[in-house]
Amino acid sequence: MPTCWLVSDEGNHKPIHLPHLQTVVLGRGPETTIKDKKCSRQQVQLTAECNKGYVKVKQLGSNPTSVDSVVFKEDPTGNSSGTKRPREPALEDSKSQKAVQMKKVAKQSEEDSVSVSQGETTKNNVSVGHWSQGLKTSMQDPKMQVYKDDKVVVIKDKYPKARYHWLVLPWQSIPNLKALSGEHYDLVKHMQLVADRMVQQCPDSDSLGFRTGYHAIPSMSHVHLHVISQDFDSPCLKNKKHWNSFTTDYFIDSHEIIQMLEANGKVTVKEGASELLKLPLCCHVCRKELQTIPALKEHLKFHFSK
Ligand code: AMP
Ligand code: ZN
Repeated sequence: MPTCWLVSDEGNHKPIHLPHLQTVVLGRGPETTIKDKKCSRQQVQLTAECNKGYVKVKQLGSNPTSVDSVVFKEDPTGNSSGTKRPREPALEDSKSQKAVQMKKVAKQSEEDSVSVSQGETTKNNVSVGHWSQGLKTSMQDPKMQVYKDDKVVVIKDKYPKARYHWLVLPWQSIPNLKALSGEHYDLVKHMQLVADRMVQQCPDSDSLGFRTGYHAIPSMSHVHLHVISQDFDSPCLKNKKHWNSFTTDYFIDSHEIIQMLEANGKVTVKEGASELLKLPLCCHVCRKELQTIPALKEHLKFHFSK
């Protein structure tokens, strides 16, 4: 049976299960960690129709609710309601224009750990084909592959956050950075070599610049090296978490990982990395602080003309 999760974009709460066709009422409280009194304890009623890829959202609380910044329309009964395709709906307090932190129902395998998994769930609730396993499927898909050899495969990122965004993955099943040890040193160096070659063959690498590295806390399983141009000119780059994951120390340079493996035979990720995702939006070129993602995108045009 397909299943659906409501996931906080900012990581404010654990994923909340929305079982198929079962009504789930959410609002202020420990489950969502929303403390703002303007949000009712029973603010919205959510019903996932996982097979169709919809989540129906009905407002129960008295203050307005919005999804993706669009306030629900009143219906004749005085209730507001809407149907949301499983694409990043956010519940927002429209009065203060401040996002209420309960966010996100999104489609399968969107990068930011948001998702309606269309995968099969087994009896003991371990999902096969869960969104976080999506890279394993993509790396086997010839349409996604742009390079392969006996050790690694390079795929296009399905939700690229810049004009050029690839992922280098080893064929060997290694879940994450923590699972790396000294024996993987040569492999990780090879991943870097392949990443460098990808950059060299890119016609715009000189003008855009590239970085190669890993997310401190990846959302997708199977270790993967990001090769990303520095324009960040992409409609898939939508929020602060996306931005900060590539422009703060949350993005760990591949050479740092190689050094750690060489020196210690393991990779240690500093504590508190998730806090980095909450930092103010800062231009990675000139460090100017911007208030919103649209303002930041406008600003980036100065640095990276088309
Ligand atoms: P992270 O786990 O945070 O290092 O990033 C995972 C990356 O995988 C993100 O850049 C996503 O856009 C990308 N991604 C998510 N799902 C898929 C998929 N099924 N195929 C290819 N790329 C994906
Ligand atoms: Zn700038």
